[in-house]
Formats: sequence, structure tokens, C-alpha cells
Amino acid sequence: MIIEEKITRPYSFPMTKFISRQKFEKVKEFSKNIQTPFLLVDLNVIKKNYINLQKHMPMASIYYAVKSNPMEEVILLLKEMGSNFDVATVYELDQVLRLGITPDRISFGNTIKKSKDISYFYLKGVRLFATDSEEDVRKIAENAPGSKVFFRILTEGTGADWPLSRKFGAHPDAILSLISLAKELELEPYGLSFHVGSQQRDIGEWDGAISTCTYIFQSAMEMGIKLKMINLGGGFPAKYLHPTPKLETYAREITRFLTEDFGDDIPEIIIEPGRSLAADAGIIITEVISTSYKSKYAPNKWVYIDIGMFGGLIETMGESIKFPIYSEKEGEAVDVILAGPTCDSMDILYEDFKYKLPDSINEGDKLYFFTTGAYTQSYSSVGFNGFPPLKVYIFK
Ligand SMILES: *Cc1c(COP(=O)(O)O)cnc(C)c1O
Repeated sequence: MIIEEKITRPYSFPMTKFISRQKFEKVKEFSKNIQTPFLLVDLNVIKKNYINLQKHMPMASIYYAVKSNPMEEVILLLKEMGSNFDVATVYELDQVLRLGITPDRISFGNTIKKSKDISYFYLKGVRLFATDSEEDVRKIAENAPGSKVFFRILTEGTGADWPLSRKFGAHPDAILSLISLAKELELEPYGLSFHVGSQQRDIGEWDGAISTCTYIFQSAMEMGIKLKMINLGGGFPAKYLHPTPKLETYAREITRFLTEDFGDDIPEIIIEPGRSLAADAGIIITEVISTSYKSKYAPNKWVYIDIGMFGGLIETMGESIKFPIYSEKEGEAVDVILAGPTCDSMDILYEDFKYKLPDSINEGDKLYFFTTGAYTQSYSSVGFNGFPPLKVYIFK
């Protein structure tokens, strides 16, 4: 494969940046007798990422964003590690409660919620809620009286490979009114949150968001309300094709932004990592179904593989997330267009961005998609074109 290599042969691209040779051999061995496509998740990687995050951001409480990889094994592991959980729906809530996580370790981080769902969370003992609108504050006050609420600030998502902008959050002036309303309705205005966009490659985005928090903390203080917490959201990096700084650089810079703004009086800090914990732990193994050139002199070869957008790779939408893709085949590398197996013409993974694969690639050859442990399996469709949801196995 790939990454500016003219000739591809086994291990010719820096595959070892993503996986050790020894582990790759094991993955290959495991893959021999299993029908593709499937996802292989290595819990040890998640464990390592969690420890690394804790080490570099010791002041932060970790609330794992369950949606990024809701596998039971993952949740149980993080439970053991002492993580808290950010859940977004009653279904995720039921799952984490069933797995023995106590409600004091759970936040309801979705700003879009039905009254009856708020009431259900409250009934189950959850007392920490995100909000960003007047209607939602009123619904929380009525259905979860006295709870702690944190207010989500609107961010732009600039610099993120998977932006989460526009839909969530409100502008600072609106947030200030919500804080005052929450107090009036006898909720506890507890803190602020934001999400700078997932796979945020520009650390500076936290700087702006933290400054906005500082301003709101001060303005709230002038209204006689002392906020206590900042939730820095997700956005921390996983290893895709495009490089990012190391996690420790993120941690160091973010700590510096907090210190510059708050001095010795840094509030309680929460983070909600999803991708940065789970993504590196996954490898999707897929097989080439067929290849074609659309005309005699067509510049690009189409490579159709047995997983596509509907099989779990929806983050290729807009070619946003660029997974490291590896082939063991040798031979001259050509630009390819990679497409999935379904009868929907939007099921093209990469067309503008040209991956390189050996021209000799053909039916039955395996491709390995690294960094696929987050936002893949849970995104896969239930039966589009009859394809079953993505199978997943634990790497041992
Ligand atoms: C999805 C989500 C996260 C996780 O973001 P990552 O970039 O995957 O770490 C965190 N917080 C909220 C509110 C989310 O919706």
C-alpha cells in the first residue's frame, strides 16, 4: 500500500506505525478461517490508551463516550479501569446499568431528549445532565428536579476531521440566560461543556473554547452563581493517515490554556473521550470482490471490497476519516477508487483522495483497515441489501 510509495510490497509502508509485525502475523493467522468482513478489537490497546490519557490528564475525570464503541467487553473493561460513562439515550443507559455501572458514574450528555427519557434517567439515579436550550432546561427541572446541569457552548468544529458543529450548543449570551433560568428552577448550574469536533487536529481550538468558558464563569459569578466544572468533551486523536500531535502534547497545551485562564483556581475537569480510546484498538479485515477499469484508458482502477459505508465505514462520508489501509500484495502501485459492495451508488469510500494499491490486486485479496475500533460496528446497517451488521471478534 499506500502513503507515497511507488512500489508496494509487504510491510513497505510504515505499517509498524499502526501495528507491530508480530501482531500483524497473529491477525493474519486469525483471519484465515473467518469470513470477511469483520472487526477485530484488541482490548489491551484500549487499556493502554486509557492509562496514557489518565497519566497525561491527571486532573480530569474520564467519561467514556459510549457511542464510539458500545461493545460489552469494552464497557466492562473501562468499568474495571474506573471510568465514568457519557450516555446519550435510554438504550445506552440500560446497557451500562445492566453491566453494573452505578448511576453516580453516568452523565446524560445528549442535549436532545424527551421528557419521559429525562424522567427515566432520574428514576434510575442519574443526576448529571447536559443542556443547551430553554425548553430542555425546563424539561430537566420538571423531570429531574435538583439535578446538576452543565451547559453546552456552541463551537465551530474547524480543524476537525469529523466536526460536530451547529447541531449542539448555544452562544454565550444564551448560555448565561440558561444558567440563570436553571437556578430559578432550582437546578444546580454546575458547569460548562463543549466539543471542539471529533479527531480535532488543531489543539488551538480548545484555547478559544476555554476562553469562552472563562468569560461565562466570570459573568455567572457576577450574577451570583459559581460554576464548578468544565467538560472539555472529546476530540482527542486516534492514528489515521493524517498525522496529529501526540496525546501528551494535547494534554500539555490544554493544561496550559486552563492555567492561563484560571490560574490556581482551575475548576473540576471532565473529558469525554471516545475515538481516542477505542479507534486504535480495531482492525477491519475485508476482501476484494472485484476490480475494473471503466474504459480502455481510464486513469483509475476501481476496487470493490466487501465492506462499505453501510457495513460500518460511514465515516468515509465526505472522505472525512482516512483510514490507514494495508495490502500485502506486491507490484506497481496505482491510484484506486475504493467502493463498497452494496447497490447504492453513494457507497464509495474514497474517490477524490486516491489510495494506492498494487495493480495486481484482485478477487480474494485481503485489505486491512487500521484504526477502526470506533464509530464502525455500531454504525453498520441492520440488513441493507441483506448484508448482516459488521461482525466483531476480540483479539487475543
Ligand atoms: C461523541 C461525543 C464524544 C466523543 O467524542 P470523540 O471525538 O469520539 O472523543 C464526546 N462527547 C459528546 C457529547 C459526544 O457526543
